[in-house]
Amino acid sequence: MKLRKELIVSAIENGTVIDHIPSDSVFQVIKILNLEDCENQLLFGTNLDSKKYGKKGIIKLRDKFFKSGDINKIALAAPTATLIVIKDFQVIEKKQVKIPDSAVGIVKCFNPNCITNHEQITTRFKVLDKKNLKLLCHYCEKITDNNNIKYI
Ligand SMILES: [Zn+2]
Repeated sequence: MKLRKELIVSAIENGTVIDHIPSDSVFQVIKILNLEDCENQLLFGTNLDSKKYGKKGIIKLRDKFFKSGDINKIALAAPTATLIVIKDFQVIEKKQVKIPDSAVGIVKCFNPNCITNHEQITTRFKVLDKKNLKLLCHYCEKITDNNNIKYI
């Protein structure tokens, strides 16, 4: 436990911190951002105490910076996440992620008959409702929502 705490509080010189991730979404966020293949130093923690949310997760990435279009992809899985950009140990930017207007290659279509579940086609959805997540499939026009959402 002590070790983990030290990892969490340790500052990074340059890089990105993704804070206030729902604890159970940390691995999802790592997956959405393809961090499994990332060669930068990655630190993460789950079930950390948060004043705002009770429990939270955090990811720290050394020397890695994201475009806002890329980082907003995580908002589907982690709408509460905050992105913090650090340069020379200073926070130079802090912002809330925003749920994008479309989701490409992130979510599976829940419709078993959808072509995206049978052929090598990248899933594509229009985000109809950002609050109660409703995603309209570009191919079968069925709606995938919070109750049946699965990430790729
Ligand atoms: Zn579909």
